Amino acid sequence: MHPVTAPPIEDGAVLVDASGRIAAVGPHEKVPAPQGAQSLHFPDAELLPGLVNCHTHLELMHLGGGNTESEFSAWIRRVRELKEKTPHPQFLESAAAGLRECWRTGVTCVADTGSTGAVMRAAHDLGARGIFYQEVFGPDPTQCDASMTELTKAVSQLRRLASSQLVAGVSPHAPYTVSAQLYEAVIAFAKKERLPVAVHIAESREETLFVRDGAGPFSDAWRARGIAVQAHGTSPVQYIDQRGVIGQGTLCIHCVQVDQDDVRTLARRGATIAHCPRSNAAHRHGSAFLKVFVEEGITVGLGTDSVVSVGVLDLWAEADAAGLRGEAALRAVTIDGARALGWQSEIGSLDVGKSADVAVFPLAALRRPSPPPAALLTVVSGRIVHQISAT
Ligand SMILES: [Zn+2]
Repeated sequence: MHPVTAPPIEDGAVLVDASGRIAAVGPHEKVPAPQGAQSLHFPDAELLPGLVNCHTHLELMHLGGGNTESEFSAWIRRVRELKEKTPHPQFLESAAAGLRECWRTGVTCVADTGSTGAVMRAAHDLGARGIFYQEVFGPDPTQCDASMTELTKAVSQLRRLASSQLVAGVSPHAPYTVSAQLYEAVIAFAKKERLPVAVHIAESREETLFVRDGAGPFSDAWRARGIAVQAHGTSPVQYIDQRGVIGQGTLCIHCVQVDQDDVRTLARRGATIAHCPRSNAAHRHGSAFLKVFVEEGITVGLGTDSVVSVGVLDLWAEADAAGLRGEAALRAVTIDGARALGWQSEIGSLDVGKSADVAVFPLAALRRPSPPPAALLTVVSGRIVHQISAT
């Protein structure tokens, strides 16, 4: 058993109380087994806290392998076209399939961004855990009010589904899809409503060209739509920071195209990072400076991004691609992910009082290369959500 915040225990056990919290954790012989408690034994297995995936787009599960564009701005445009062709029930199916796939691989918490609301709806119906950031788009400043009206409506619908394990947030998508006015309006709304914020930022060279120089394919696309493009003479991180976007707990997704000043800004603001090394590599964006982030004291969780980018959602492969092995990989996919989402007092380790979010894997399965190992058992808030076999 790997409590993560304490050394591994050879023959460990966890007692889960009726409210779905961890009531005891330790060596098997020291953990009480109250009368009537359901008892599950896994003799050749590793017991872990449930894994935390800090960046998904589960509404896009049906689009895996469906986008062959290699240039990033064309790829983004193609995703939008494929989404526009998708009937709404398909998004719900994708969301449910995505959540089940997470559970199958021991992931018990996701930070998901999406525009359809399908993932939070499916998470509510299935009993999943996560933060669901409602995406908002609007490059044209004259669209700002319309985008805000849409966002406000979407968030109020999502919030009806909220619970202690299901949180709604907002995500102004990226500098090349969001006007400066819209960034500011979304952040004012998020502050007023106390909503968590996630942003795709400093992902591609094309984005840097767009923000700094008003050049490149994203700039061409804006101009073709009659939208004025400005050269801001600064990096994407500084650009959104100047609009008040980066604050305590803002989840900054990717952060590849950053310099030391950007990293210091992220650290100073208390932002956290969703590091997606396989997606960054697939799009040839480059490698994020994980070591520098950590040295500057930034909390970094791992995210897979969507199947459209990476094919298979595999957090262990992300850890491997980030150069993390053994205990470092284990921490990255559990407690660090929980910290990146501000949920470290609730999940991410096996500690008394935390929610019983647990995953059991066959012994040594975690040291095999992909495909991602299937969990024998996955538990969210004390409820079994996936099980292969128990003896
Ligand atoms: Zn993404």
